[in-house]
Amino acid sequence: MGVIESELFINNKFVSSSTKDSFELFNPYNGDLVAKIAEASVEDVNLAVSSGETAFPSWSSLSPIARGAPMKKLAAKILEHKVELATLDAISMGRPIETCFDEEYAAVHFNYFGEAGYAQGHTSLNTPGFLNMSLRQPFGVVGIIIPWNAPLVFFAKKVAPALAAGNTVVLKSSEKAPLSSWKVASWISECGFPPGVLNVLSGHGHISGAAMGSHMRIRAISFTGSTRTGRAIQIASAESNLKKVVFELGGKGPSLIFEDADLEEAAKGTDFSIFWNAGQTCMANSRIYVHENVAEKFVALFKELAKSRKMGDPTSGDVNHGPQADKTQYEAVLKYIEIGKESGKVELGGEPNILKDGRLTVNPVIFRDQPEDSRIMKEEVFGPVVVINTFKTEEDVIAKANDTEYGLYASLWTNDLGRALRVSKKLESGMVGVNCASPTGSWDLPFGGWKGSGTGRESLLESMDHFLEHKSIYFKCPGIGG
Ligand code: NAD
Repeated sequence: MGVIESELFINNKFVSSSTKDSFELFNPYNGDLVAKIAEASVEDVNLAVSSGETAFPSWSSLSPIARGAPMKKLAAKILEHKVELATLDAISMGRPIETCFDEEYAAVHFNYFGEAGYAQGHTSLNTPGFLNMSLRQPFGVVGIIIPWNAPLVFFAKKVAPALAAGNTVVLKSSEKAPLSSWKVASWISECGFPPGVLNVLSGHGHISGAAMGSHMRIRAISFTGSTRTGRAIQIASAESNLKKVVFELGGKGPSLIFEDADLEEAAKGTDFSIFWNAGQTCMANSRIYVHENVAEKFVALFKELAKSRKMGDPTSGDVNHGPQADKTQYEAVLKYIEIGKESGKVELGGEPNILKDGRLTVNPVIFRDQPEDSRIMKEEVFGPVVVINTFKTEEDVIAKANDTEYGLYASLWTNDLGRALRVSKKLESGMVGVNCASPTGSWDLPFGGWKGSGTGRESLLESMDHFLEHKSIYFKCPGIGG
């Protein structure tokens, strides 16, 4: 594959950036130049918003079936090009193609929302002499900003419900993984979306992302990414037009392993949770708490699994652990490894030869006995780095698990049903796995976090709500009686 040159997709046409600026994307495994990516400017954001505004009246007037038709064609295209899309992400941000489920996920979402776009309000006879009603209506142009760790998942889970609800969309991909979004954009026109309905921009957050956050004519933004950026978008929204914001943010997930747990299952589940995608997962269990009586046995099992990860080129089918997404991510992880070495004990990895498997690859690191207030326990590392601490009592471990500003996904392992329910209830977390860990979930249940992990909930059943305004109509009907 030669060097790709990607453009912006506005009003159903690929165009270069209005400033002609572009940036380079390098393969994090071997350092090759992969692509030159168009850098969207503030003016490009304005153009995309204007084209969305022009498209909105007719798109929002279509029936759900008519809006669904191009969405279902896009789902088919994505599945047909599964390997190509997975490869584009692998060479951009190092995600092994062997671990890719994004295309199936995306297709399910475009197919589901291609059928489910029937927004409804309700009616009321509770005011004498009135037949009152509420309507659910699209906002107009909505903004969608996605991260790099599973680009197509976020593309589909946000774009599909936004379009189904009758909005038009300006999406900005992540500067670290723009190619799968760019490829999907190349099918938008042929799938039958009218010009301006779905605009796909590439570029950096401080330019086009910031312009979207403060845009006066974008009335709602759905964002997945770091808590830091979520805060910046919240401020930009408050200082511009108070647009509605929906956030899925960072995590520092705890996993609680009780004395009666099936330790082999717990080791398998927690290993997968933290090391899948080289630890670059918002809901990874980066803090494991194991009962002191079974700690040595659990650590031995966990360590064997961590050592058996198949590291290497993410485009090769038998590799399940690729490099970190880019040099910035890689260096951030190395920094945290040094921080962890200073505050606690190293059980595995962290040695200076971390480079040997690939340019930006980090071997799994297991820390033990870290102080609860240390940085490695409090801050999101976003790398293959886990801490295993011990506990004595249920109260003790619940307090430790909840002592965080995050609250995305927690898990617990026990064979005691009463304890499973009691502890699930007390954990301050948007999602709880019982005898399973993240990313185990269900696409029809609310996905999202408490505290600093987010402000909304996404799912097949919930997501369309984010993209619909309410309107109450008080309809005086003197003849209605009552
Ligand atoms: P990030 O916040 O650095 O970037 C996310 C997106 O925001 C990118 O497209 C970026 O260009 C854009 N952006 C950056 N600054 C911006 C600004 N000022 N205004 C508007 N947009 C801006 O996050 P990331 O590094 O891409 O992703 C990793 C983070 O995302 C982690 O914290 C992870 O936990 C979180 N995440 C959360 C979920 C979830 O569902 N809760 C899922 C995946 C990732």
